[in-house]
Amino acid sequence: MDPFDFSSRAPDLAPPSKAVDPYDHSMQPAIDDQLTIITYNQAIFPVIILSIAGGLIGTVVWPVVPQEYFAAWFLLFFSALLVRFLVLRQFSLRGQSDAGLNIWRTKYVLVAAFNGLIWGSLVLFNFLIESEMLRMVLILTALGIATGGMNSYAPIRNAYLAFLSTVLIPVSIWTFNQAAEPYILTGLLFLFGISLLRSGVRHRRILEEGVRLGMANTRLVEELSDSNQNLVKEKATQEVLHQLAELGLRNDSLDTLMSMALEITCRMPWLNVKNKGAIFLVEKDTTRLRLSAPWNIKPDQLSHCANMKTGECLCGRARQYNKLIFSDDYPQDDAVCEHLTGLTRYMMPISSGDKVLGLLTLYLEQGHQKTEEEVIFLKMVASSLANIIERIRAIESSQLALRVFDNTNDAILLTNPDGVIINVNPAFSHITGFDRMDVIGHKPNLLRSGHHSDDFYTTLWTELKANGDWIGEITNRRKNGSLITVQQNISSIRDASGETVNYVGVFHDITHLKRAQEDMRQLAYFDALTGLPNRHMFEDRLQHAVSVHQQIDQRLAVLFIDIRGFRTMNQSFGYSAGDDVLRATVHRLKTVVRSADTLSRIGGDEFAVLMNQVDDPKVVEAVVDRINQAMSNPFKIEGVEVHGRVHIGISLYPDDASESRGLIDCADTALHQATSELQDTGGHRYYSGEQKEQSVSRLRLESDLRHAVENKELVLFYQPQFNLKDGALVGAEALLRWKRGGEQLVPPNDFIPLAEHSGLIVPITEWIIPQVLTDWYPSNEVQPVLPRVAINLSGHHIGQPERLIKFITETLSRSGLAPQHLELEVTESSILEDIGRATETLKAISDLGVTIALDDFGTGYSSLSYLVSLPIDILKIDRMFITDICTNERSLDIVRGLIMMCHSIGINVVAEGIETLEQGELLAEIGCDIVQGFYYGRPVPMDEFHWNNASH
Ligand code: C2E
Ligand code: CA
Ligand code: CA
Repeated sequence: MDPFDFSSRAPDLAPPSKAVDPYDHSMQPAIDDQLTIITYNQAIFPVIILSIAGGLIGTVVWPVVPQEYFAAWFLLFFSALLVRFLVLRQFSLRGQSDAGLNIWRTKYVLVAAFNGLIWGSLVLFNFLIESEMLRMVLILTALGIATGGMNSYAPIRNAYLAFLSTVLIPVSIWTFNQAAEPYILTGLLFLFGISLLRSGVRHRRILEEGVRLGMANTRLVEELSDSNQNLVKEKATQEVLHQLAELGLRNDSLDTLMSMALEITCRMPWLNVKNKGAIFLVEKDTTRLRLSAPWNIKPDQLSHCANMKTGECLCGRARQYNKLIFSDDYPQDDAVCEHLTGLTRYMMPISSGDKVLGLLTLYLEQGHQKTEEEVIFLKMVASSLANIIERIRAIESSQLALRVFDNTNDAILLTNPDGVIINVNPAFSHITGFDRMDVIGHKPNLLRSGHHSDDFYTTLWTELKANGDWIGEITNRRKNGSLITVQQNISSIRDASGETVNYVGVFHDITHLKRAQEDMRQLAYFDALTGLPNRHMFEDRLQHAVSVHQQIDQRLAVLFIDIRGFRTMNQSFGYSAGDDVLRATVHRLKTVVRSADTLSRIGGDEFAVLMNQVDDPKVVEAVVDRINQAMSNPFKIEGVEVHGRVHIGISLYPDDASESRGLIDCADTALHQATSELQDTGGHRYYSGEQKEQSVSRLRLESDLRHAVENKELVLFYQPQFNLKDGALVGAEALLRWKRGGEQLVPPNDFIPLAEHSGLIVPITEWIIPQVLTDWYPSNEVQPVLPRVAINLSGHHIGQPERLIKFITETLSRSGLAPQHLELEVTESSILEDIGRATETLKAISDLGVTIALDDFGTGYSSLSYLVSLPIDILKIDRMFITDICTNERSLDIVRGLIMMCHSIGINVVAEGIETLEQGELLAEIGCDIVQGFYYGRPVPMDEFHWNNASH
C-alpha cells in the first residue's frame, strides 16, 4: 500500500459557506447565548448600584424599625449581593462551559429570584413604619428597584420573570393587608406588574434585536474582509500564473526559464514561503533528479538532493508517486534530508499526465501549517511549469530534427498524403541537383529514370501503404539527366488516429558503391583485358548449365581453345603485341560463337566456349569450322604477318562427363591431345575414353621415366652426318632411346615432351653429354674418329643458363676435350621463350668454342633475323622441306635461298631427313654442305655405327 496515498485524506477544497441569516429561527439559541453573555458581562454594574441603594435604604430605615428586623433583612440583602457577585465571578473565571450557557442562565434565574424576594420584602417594613412619607419612599424605592431589576434581568427571560414574581410576592402580601381600599391597590399593583412585564419584554426584545443586528453585522464585516482578502489573493495568483504563462512563450534555455518561474512563484505575496525554493528536472534515462534552478538556496545544499535516487528521499518519492508531499506530514521519512532540517517543505511534482517531468520544492518556516489554498496554488504552478518544460523540450527536439534535416548527408524529402513534395533538405538538392523550388509542389516521379517498370512502383506503394515503410534501391535521374542509384527509405507519418499525414523519403547516393560493387564483380568474374567472363565465371555458368540441361535432357558442349604458338608470339613481339593478338582473337571468336553461348578467357592464351542445347553434334562441328576459319587469317603484328592457328579440345555433356568438373577435365585432355597430335597444323579433338587412358598411361610413363636413368634404361643412338662435297663423315647426332623395362623401345617423340614437361630433361641431358663424350672421345691421346658429335638441347635446359654453362664448362675441362668436337642443337622455339637470355647463354657457350646448330629450321617462325643476331654455326633445315624438295619447286626455292643466305653470313647448312639419292643429289646441286638422313644412315647404337663414307 502506498503510504503516500493522499486520496484517503484529500482535502475538501471547497471553502465553508459563511452565509448566515440572523433572523433564521435556528439562530435563537445563539441569540439567547449572546444575551446571556451580555447579561453576565454587564451585571457587575447593577451589583454596585444595588449595594449603594441598599446602603441608602439602611440609613433611612434603620432608625425607624426595630434593629433586629432590619439586621435580618440586611443580612439577606448582603447574601443576595454576595451570591450574585460570586456567580458573576465564577462566569468570568470559567467562562462558557462545554455544556453551553444553560447552567449559567439557571444560576442567574435563582439569583434573580433571590434578589426579587429581597427587594420586594423591603415593602414589608411598611408594617413597622408610621411615617407616611417614609412608607412612600420605601414603596417607590421598591418599585424603582423592581423596574431597574426588570431591565437588568431582561436579557434572560426566566430571570426577569423570576424577579418579577418574587418582587410581587411580598408586595402583594403588604397590599392585601392594607385595610383601606385593598382592591384598588391590588388593581394598581396588577397594572404595575403588567407594565413591568411589558417593559421587561420590550427591553428584552430591544436587546435581542440589538444582538441580532450585531451578529448580522459581525458576519457581514467578516464576510466583507474575507472576500476582500480573497480578491487580493486571487489577483496575485492570476498575476503569477499569467507571468508563468508568458514565460512559456520565451525561447530561453530550460534552466533559465525554470529560474525565472521559480523566482516568480517564490515572490508570490500571499504565499508564506521562506522565499526559498528549487526546481529539479527529471533527466532522461536516469533515476536521479537534476537541479535545474535554485532560488535563494545554495546549490551545494541541493546537490545532495540531486544525488539521491528516486524514492530515497521525500523529493524522490514525490516524483515516484507523482503526488504532492508536505514534509511535516512525514517527519519520520524526512530524516534522510538532514541538510534541510528546519525547513518545512512542499514537494510538488511537475507532471504531464502520468509522466513526471520534474519537481518544485518550496521551503517554509518550520511548523508552517499546510493550507488548501497553497496546495491549489502549487498545483496550478506545477501545471504551468509542466507546460513550459514540455514546450521547450518539444522546441528542442524539433530544432534538433531541423538541424538534422538541414545538416544530414542523406537527402530528405517530405510529401503530403497525396505524395506532393512539401519540403526537401539541402542534401536532397546536392544529390539530385534539384533546388527546393524546383520540386516543391511536384511529385517525386520528377526523379524517375525510366529504369524501373510500373510494377516496381506499384509494389513500392502497396508495400508502403501496408507496412508504413519501404526500403530498397532506386535508380533516379538527376536534374542534369545523369543516373543515380540511391538507397531509399520511405516511411509514412501517421497522426493519432492512424491517418497518414506525410510521407518522408530518406535516401543516399550509392552510385559509387554500386559502381565499386560492379567493378569488384568484374574483377572477380571478368577478365580485365578482354572483358570476357573469366574461368571462375565460366565454371559457375557451366555448373548452372549442367543442372539446367539435366532437367531438359539436352546435350551441351565445352570447347577449350588454345592459340598455337602464342607464347612464342608474345615473347617475340612483346606483351602488348600479345595483348593485341588476344583482343583480336576475342573479336574474331565473338563473331562465330552463337549468342546464347558463353565465350570466356580461362587462361593466358586459352579460351573456352560453353555451347548450350547441342541437339546435334554437327552444330559443334560447324562452330569449330567457323572458329578455324576465323583464325585462319594471319594477324599483323608490327607489319609482320603471324599465323595464329588454334587447337581445340571438345567435351560433351552427358557423353563424356555428368558434371562440370569432369567436362572441364575432358575438354582439357582433348585440348592436350589436339596440341600434341596436331602441333604444327592446329585443329580439334573430341574427348574420348582413349584419351583418358592415354593420359593415365602418360602419368605412368612419367613415373617410369624418373627411374629410367638409374635403371640404365636410357641408351644413345647415333646418326651420321656426311659432307656432301667429299662424302666424308663429319659428325653424328646423338638421339636418345628409352628401353622401357629393358625391352620395349619408346620413341623420343613420346617421352621427350614428357621429360621436358616434368623437368626431367635437364638431369637426363646432364647424363647424355658426358656419356656421349666418353663414348666418342675416351682419351685425348688418340686422334678422334668422329670430328664432331651433336647433342640436342632442350629449351627447358636453356632456361637455366647458369646451370647449363657451368655444367658444360666443367664437363669439357674434366674431359680435357677440345670444345669444337661438341655441337649443341637448339630449336628456334626453345630459344624464343626468352630470346634475350637465350642469346646470352648461347654466346657464352659459343665463347667456350662449342659449335651451335639451329635445329628444325622452317617449322617455327623461321625468322631470318635470328640467324644474324644469334651465335649460330650451323643451320639444320627441317625434314619438312626436304621431303618434297624434288617435287615441290617452292620448297626447293626456299632451301636454295636459305643455303645461299647462310653461306653469305658464314653459316653451314645441314639438311635433315634425306631418304633418297635424288634428294641428296639435288641438295648437293644447290650447295648444301652436310646431309643427315636414313638414306645415309639410320640412328644406331654406337657399336653398330657405320664408319663408312657417304659415297658408300
Ligand atoms: P631431331 O632433333 O630433329 O632428330 C632427328 C630426328 O629425325 C630423329 O628422330 C631421327 O631418327 C629422325 N630422322 C633422321 N633422318 C631421317 C629420315 O631420313 N627420315 C625420317 N623419317 N626421320 C629421320 P628421333 O630419333 O625419333 O628423334 C626425334 C626427336 O626427338 C629429335 O628430333 C629430337 O628433337 C628429340 N630427341 C631425340 N634425342 C634427344 C635428346 O637426346 N635430347 C633432346 N633434347 N631431344 C632429343
Ligand atoms: Ca636434332
Ligand atoms: Ca631436327
